[in-house]
Amino acid sequence: MQISKHVFRALALGMLTMGLVMGAVFPLFVIGFGVPKTIALAPAFIAATLISGFVVGWLNFALASGIVRPRLRKLAAGMQQVRLAMQQATFTEDWSTCDPARCRLDERDQDELGALAHSYNSLLYALHEAHRIEAQIRSFTQTLSSQLDLHELGDSALVMLQANARAQGGALVLERQGEWIVLASRGLNHPEKILESQAFVANQDQAAQNRITLPPGVMVDAVLSQFVPADVLLTPIKNHGAVLGWVILASAQPFTDEVPRLLPLLMQGLGLALNNALLHDDLQRVAALDPLTGIYNRRFGFKRLEEELNRAERNRTALAVLMLDLDHFKRINDTYGHLTGDKVLIRSTNICRDILREGDVLLRYGGEEFVVVLPGASLHDARDVAERIRFAISQSKVPFGDQVLEVTASIGIAATSGQTPITAEALVAQADTRLYMAKSTGRNKVVATGSPDAKTSLTAH
Ligand code: GH3
Ligand code: MG
Ligand code: MG
Repeated sequence: MQISKHVFRALALGMLTMGLVMGAVFPLFVIGFGVPKTIALAPAFIAATLISGFVVGWLNFALASGIVRPRLRKLAAGMQQVRLAMQQATFTEDWSTCDPARCRLDERDQDELGALAHSYNSLLYALHEAHRIEAQIRSFTQTLSSQLDLHELGDSALVMLQANARAQGGALVLERQGEWIVLASRGLNHPEKILESQAFVANQDQAAQNRITLPPGVMVDAVLSQFVPADVLLTPIKNHGAVLGWVILASAQPFTDEVPRLLPLLMQGLGLALNNALLHDDLQRVAALDPLTGIYNRRFGFKRLEEELNRAERNRTALAVLMLDLDHFKRINDTYGHLTGDKVLIRSTNICRDILREGDVLLRYGGEEFVVVLPGASLHDARDVAERIRFAISQSKVPFGDQVLEVTASIGIAATSGQTPITAEALVAQADTRLYMAKSTGRNKVVATGSPDAKTSLTAH
């Protein structure tokens, strides 16, 4: 406003001065045309020409300012409106008071003011667009930053990325313990095939966004049909320059130019959130796993047993617990050393792992004691599993120099049908009692029945 006032003051001054100069020069001018000096230089004539010059100058100024000033005022008011709307939108994200459709100025005039209005409208569109993208990134980052669960984070990030890019299919892959895994996928069949594809492997070293084609057999799974996408974008998820994973987005139509430019901006928030979730996952893993054998530790394993027991009681299904203890383990340590003892522990764990099924839970209960939880297993089923484990351990040969070490284990079993409630502690105590019975009756055996007072025990050997 201040600037336009200055301009009009200068304009007024200029025009009035011009009018006065013309008024002053006019008498000399008319003398040249033969008007007698007595008339041309008479004070009344000079006063009349000066007044006329002043009036013409003033009229000129009024005319110019009457045409230009309202248009400039409109422009200034429009800009003011945008400024207020932007200020408000920054805090409320409500841009409705000044979206480009409502706030734009008339730019039809083919003059400088028309060009100015056009520039103003372009600026308005650019601001609106920048604000829209900034809001998109902010909401994406905000939603993800509260997610600590790795899988939930992967799912929600992919949902939002797909929506932002208007992609029909997508996957989020990352490296975990030296192996590439598909953390989340939507609308793609066989996304795991991408991990082995030439296009994906070739991009690993570049750590940059690229367009790829999906390997044969990977298609976008639409509701009623499957199709090969027209455009596939591979974008790295980075944190502090390190690639944590990749986002693959597939679309039936080529992506608009905005998508490849927007994705790296969204990846900044995702990289940070993913890094947090990975750290959280690592911490949970460390807290849950026994460092020597890599299986659940006692604290976490017991929680898993309680969960499985609750589920068994809810569904009224069976559940069995094995308590396994290596025989004369102290002797192994004393004779061959602690490191060999550790090797035996790892080997015994692997034997159990190989025999157990998915859904079974294996935990290190103590030094050389393990507990196996077998959801759905009756006492009879559990005895079969225990016998296979016992047999496999007894057959495993642990090399020590040129000798071979023989290891055996004793196992006690307890089971519940899920019909009558029993605590995890009571179930494990029962298995422990039977383990003790196996030990006291010769070791390298499985005991599945009997209580401390019972004289009989069912053994499988
Ligand atoms: P039993 O047949 O009656 O079970 O005899 P045992 O010698 O196996 O039983 P005991 O409980 O006396 O010995 C267990 C040994 O396991 C003692 C301990 O030094 C050893 N141990 C516990 N944790 C570890 C471990 O992490 N590594 C190794 N190498 N040894 C361990
Ligand atoms: Mg032992
Ligand atoms: Mg023991």
